[in-house]
Amino acid sequence: MTYHLTRFCFIAAIGVIALLYWFFAITLWWLVLPSVIYSACLIYGSSVIQANFFAPATCSADTTEKIIALSFDDDPHSEYTPQVLALLAKYNATASFFVIGKHIHGNENLLKQIIVEGHSIGNHSYSHSFFIDFKNVQGFKEELTQTEELIFKVIGKRVKLFRPPYGVTTPNLAKAAKLLDYRIIGWNIRSLDTTKDTVEVITQRVQSQMKSGAIILLHDTSHKSIQVLEQTLNYAQQQGYKIVSIEQLLNIKEVGVQMDRNIR
Ligand SMILES: [Zn+2]
Repeated sequence: MTYHLTRFCFIAAIGVIALLYWFFAITLWWLVLPSVIYSACLIYGSSVIQANFFAPATCSADTTEKIIALSFDDDPHSEYTPQVLALLAKYNATASFFVIGKHIHGNENLLKQIIVEGHSIGNHSYSHSFFIDFKNVQGFKEELTQTEELIFKVIGKRVKLFRPPYGVTTPNLAKAAKLLDYRIIGWNIRSLDTTKDTVEVITQRVQSQMKSGAIILLHDTSHKSIQVLEQTLNYAQQQGYKIVSIEQLLNIKEVGVQMDRNIR
């Protein structure tokens, strides 16, 4: 059920109620029903990225190969990103890092290190503001281009994968992403590693859902997430999964300027 179809059904329901009111004098309280259903659909559609409600989002790969993608949001982090990179190297795994533009300043070397070590970078907006979803199309375009330019300045490469902040999508976000040729990336395993849950609970949540083609969402913003990552890498390796970046999982070819693995 997409946004456009839902909106059409809502308008049609309002029309039918108006006709029934006109010809049979039914109570206008009937308007409450489609309004509530429509609002519920909008809330569900904007908050559940897998619903593909406002915009198509890639949340997993259709494969039987034992391969999974690790993704980190809210990068780069001066304390935890180096720890994540060290763990990924230890387990011979690659991953995707979704970068917040305002976090780049002062962490340029981390961005370079991510690329040099064979991982990939995506766009996660410039501000990651709590109120970002109230922005218009132009506002979202600025969020994306500001971060894209900053990343380009550091690594010499255009990124074209976008993870919406909080996983929330809106019609304006969808339009901006489309205009700038971004592919929206979601996940199908949400670790919820930024909640109060313990390492054990989060690790169990990830492990119990692990399957071929999965995209796992983590944040390298706390010591807890580092512990979850180590246990997840260990478990995945024991189960015979290859851990890769989203580009590798989805067979996405590099775009833009050729990546320079010798960046200093
Ligand atoms: Zn985020």
